[in-house]
Parts: sequence; C-alpha cells; structure tokens
Amino acid sequence: MADKDPSSVTVIGLGLMGQALAAEFLKGGHRTTVWNRSADKAADLVSRGAVLAKTPADAVTAADLVVVCVSDNDALHAVLDPVTDLLRGRVVANLTSGSSDQARANATWAEELGFGYLAGAIMTVPAMVGAPDSVFFYAGPQEAYEKHSAVLRLLGGGTTHLGEDHALAPLYDVSLLGMMWGTLNSFLQGAALLSTAGVKAAEFLPWATKWVDAVKVFATDYAGQIDAGDGEYPARDATMEVHFGALKHLLHESEAQGVNAELPHFVHGLMERTIARGFEQNSYAAMTELFRTPEK
Ligand code: NAP
Repeated sequence: MADKDPSSVTVIGLGLMGQALAAEFLKGGHRTTVWNRSADKAADLVSRGAVLAKTPADAVTAADLVVVCVSDNDALHAVLDPVTDLLRGRVVANLTSGSSDQARANATWAEELGFGYLAGAIMTVPAMVGAPDSVFFYAGPQEAYEKHSAVLRLLGGGTTHLGEDHALAPLYDVSLLGMMWGTLNSFLQGAALLSTAGVKAAEFLPWATKWVDAVKVFATDYAGQIDAGDGEYPARDATMEVHFGALKHLLHESEAQGVNAELPHFVHGLMERTIARGFEQNSYAAMTELFRTPEK
C-alpha cells in the first residue's frame, strides 16, 4: 500500500499540458514529483521546486496520487505497464485523452492489479489550468476521487466527478468538443458570408455570442423533449418546416454570394431526412432521431 504524505502528487508526462498541471500542484504547495521520457522538459519545474524522478518506478512510488498526461493510451501503457506492481493501493488519475473503450479497459486493468483508476478529461488549455472556470472531468470510483479531490480541484474550479462509469469522462469530452466545432464552424461560415458585404468578423461577434444565448434557451426545451422519450417533440418555438425554409435561405445565400456552402448542404440533408421521417410539424429536437441511430 502507498505510504507517502497525502499531499504529495506525481505527474507523469511533461508536455505542454503536463507541465501546466505540475506547475499548479507546486503553486498549491504540494510536494510534486515529475517524470518525463525526455527529462529536459522538467528543468523549469525543478527550478520551481519539483522533484525529478529518475525512473517511472521512482515517480509512482513518490506519491499516492499519480497524475498521467501523455499523448495517448499507448504512451500511458508504455510508461505504466512495467511498474504496475508498484501502483497497488495508489490512485492513477489519467488525464490523457482517449476513448470510452480504453477508459473501461483501463478500469478493468487497474482493478485486476489493485490500484484505483480515474479516467479524466481536460476541457481547457495549458494557460487556463488552475482558473476558476476551468473544467476537469473525472469518472471512476467515487472513493478514489474523494480521497484526492482537494488536490485535483487545484487544476480548475470546474473540477467534477461525473460518476462511477469510467466511460463518462471521454464521452463528455468528445461531446463537448463536438459542440465547440459545431458552433465555431457556424461562426466561421457566418463570418465568411457577412464578409461579402464588408462586415468584419469582430462586428459579427457580439451578435453571434448573443445568439448563442438564445440557442441555450432552445436547447433547454429540447433536452426535456429528448429525455421524455415519447417521440412527440412539440413545436413550441418553430416547426421543422419553418427551420427547413430558413436553412434554404442560408444555403441560397452561401451559393449566391460565392462562399463555401458545404455546411448548409450537410444540414439541409439532415433536415430533409428528418422531415421524410414524418417530423415536419415537430420541433428541431426531432433531429435527435437521426443523431441517435445510424442510417439504415
Ligand atoms: P504534448 O505536448 O505533445 O506532450 C506529449 C507528452 O506525452 C510528452 O510528455 C511526451 O514525452 C509524452 N509521450 C508521448 N509518447 C510517449 C511514450 N511512448 N512514452 C512516454 N511518454 C510519451 O501533448 P499535451 O498537449 O501535453 O497533451 C497531453 C494530453 O493532454 C493529450 O492526450 C491531449 O489530448 C490532452 N489534452 C491537451 C490539451 C492541450 O491544450 N494541450 C487540452 C486537453 C487535453 P516526450 O516529451 O518525451 O516526447
């Protein structure tokens, strides 16, 4: 069983993100041991008080909490597989991006080998680590999370335990990234369209962000409609027919003004198929039918 000062923490992986994580633990006054495949990346952290472990074995035995942030799941196993005996009784908080299948497989691996495992997801960038709004997700045993939550919360005010199912962290991760790209793609498409009339992206920005607030209101109603699971999708704001008509204007304008129309074409296809399923007089939430299941 692990033996170290509970305020000690080990960080494995000192890329852009790992360095930011370790720096925040140091700032919080924790004894921070670090290890990286290329040891030179530890220099700055060591100058600020971090202890550089010579080997992964030294790193994992230095603390009860081992935070890992490397490129991918293969890298995690390349580092930890040779030292699993030493992990027994400790908690690995894995902040390496990965899939839900990997998260569940790693959970089984950890359980068989007798150490705690939290699958994590980082919803911020290195410069924002430690900020009050920065979100870090963890999924896995509540007990393992509670034991180390005071240290883990240093990384961001939005640090949250999602539940016991390890898959939740990667699933929330990619779902939120998808929202980010969807929103950004629409912003970029709108900015391209408006640029044909000499409007700067900065002029579009305040209206775009205000519109995101309106979209939040629509999504709030749609969440309830999706979760009701009754296939009703009452059109309290606008019908699919009305949405489809408006989308055709976006498609027409994009083509007429000579900007890229791929995104409106794609959405046009989704709406057309939803309407073909008989949802013309239902709300936009009916599109969930398409997203939930692949086309037959
Ligand atoms: P990075 O700067 O490219 O660093 C990658 C790290 O992985 C380095 O420490 C590298 O070691 C290590 N590594 C790669 N292959 C390895 C192997 N086979 N054995 C041992 N170590 C290995 O990446 P990063 O930006 O820090 O991202 C790390 C993780 O955080 C990724 O999963 C990423 O998706 C996630 N993440 C990053 C951000 C971000 O904004 N950067 C945001 C959210 C999530 P060397 O230094 O020796 O190459």
